Amino acid sequence: MSLASVARSEDRLLLPTYDRHKILFERGRGVYLWDSRGRRYLDFLSGIGVNALGHGHPAIQSTLQRQAARLIHVSNLFFHEYQAELAKRLTRISGLQRAFFCNSGTEAWEGALKLARSYARAQNKNGHAPKWRMIALDNSFHGRTFGSLTTTGQAKYRDPFAPLLPGVSFVGFNDGEELKRQFDGSVCAICMETIQGEGGIRPLSREFLQLARQLSQSNGALLILDEIQCGLGRTGKYFAYQHYGVQPDIVTVAKPLAAGLPLGAILTTNQVATGMHPGMHGTTFGGGPLACAVAIEFLKVLDKIQPHIREVGSYFRTGLEKVKSQHSCVREIRGLGLMLGMDLNSVELAKTVVSQLLRRGILINRTNETVLRFLPPYIIQQKHIDQVVRELDSALSAALPRSQPNSKGVISTRSRH
Ligand code: PLP
Repeated sequence: MSLASVARSEDRLLLPTYDRHKILFERGRGVYLWDSRGRRYLDFLSGIGVNALGHGHPAIQSTLQRQAARLIHVSNLFFHEYQAELAKRLTRISGLQRAFFCNSGTEAWEGALKLARSYARAQNKNGHAPKWRMIALDNSFHGRTFGSLTTTGQAKYRDPFAPLLPGVSFVGFNDGEELKRQFDGSVCAICMETIQGEGGIRPLSREFLQLARQLSQSNGALLILDEIQCGLGRTGKYFAYQHYGVQPDIVTVAKPLAAGLPLGAILTTNQVATGMHPGMHGTTFGGGPLACAVAIEFLKVLDKIQPHIREVGSYFRTGLEKVKSQHSCVREIRGLGLMLGMDLNSVELAKTVVSQLLRRGILINRTNETVLRFLPPYIIQQKHIDQVVRELDSALSAALPRSQPNSKGVISTRSRH
C-alpha cells in the first residue's frame, strides 16, 4: 500500500487527532527504520522512548514468538507465571515493594492518583475530612485521560476538555518557595515527573525534589514520581530519582517496559498498598502473560546494558555541547543519559531542523515548541551519535543565514519545505 492511499484512507476514517509526518514505515532492525520507498532512517526517537532496545532485538523477538505460541491472555481473574516474576525484578531495582500492571502510561498515572486518594482515606481513621488535595507542577505532562489531564500543567492539553477534576493545584517548576506556601495538611500527594519530557526535557533540581520529599513526609502526603518517559534505564540508572538520593512512595513506568508492547506499572510500598483491596482497581488487558514475559526479557537486557547507556549518553552530551558552542541559536542542552534536549531560540528554527534531519534520514522530534528531543534506543553506538551531531551542526549552519530571529525570537524570513 502506498503512503498516499494510506493517508487518504486515514483522513476519511480516523478521528483527526494526529498530524503525522508524511512517512509510511514498513520495517525496522536495530537502530534503523525503513519506509515504503525503501529509505533508511536512523531512529533517535525510538517511538517516543518505547523501542529502547531498538527494532527486532533478538532476545525480545524470541520471547515474543515463544510466548505468543504458548499463552497471550488469561484475564486478571487467574494467575499466570509472569506477573510476580516481573514485580520481583521491578521492586528489586526500584527499592519499592509492590506492583500493579496496566496498559499505558496514562493508565499507570490514573492508578497512582487513585492509590494516593484511597491511601489517604484508609489512613483517616479519626473522622476528620480525608486529605484529598494534590500538588502538581506547571509545564508537566502525565497523559490524556481525565485524572492525568487534571495533573498536567499545560493549558493546550487541558483547556479543550474543561472542566477537569477538582482538588489539584499547580506550583512553578522547581519553585521551592511556592511549594512551601501550597503545602499543608490537606495535601495527599505531590505528583511530578523527575525529568519533564513533553515539557522540554527539564530535570527537577536536587533541592526541589529533596524539599518535596521532606514536605510530603512532614505533612503525611505521598511523593509520586512519573518516570514513564525518564525511567527504566533511560538516564543511565534504573530510575531517574536514583540520581537524586530520594526515594518516592509511588513511581509509574510504561513506555519501554515491554520493549514495544503496551505495558505500564505502578510501583509502591507495602504501606501505601494497604490503601487498596480486591475490587477497588483493575484492568482487563493489563499485565497479560505476553507483555509480562517480554518485559522480564527487557529487564534482563537492561541489567547488562546500563554502563553502555551511561557511556554513550555522556558521549552524546559532549557532542551536543560542542554544537552549542558553535551556534548561538542553541540556548541550552538539558537532560540525563539518553534523554537529552537541545533548546533553540526560536520555534521556526526548531521546526526547520527537525524536518532537515528527517530529510537527511534521522528521526528526532520537537517538544515544548523550541526543544529538539533525543530519545535514542539504548543500543546506539558512538558512530550513530557522530552522524547525528554532524548532521545537526550542518542543519543549523544551513538554517541560520536564512533564519535570523527578530527581537521576539520569531524567525522572519525562512524557506519552508
Ligand atoms: N507521563 C509521561 C511523563 C509521559 O511522557 C507520557 C507520554 O508521553 C505519559 C505519562 C502518558 O503515557 P501514554 O501515552 O502511554 O498514556
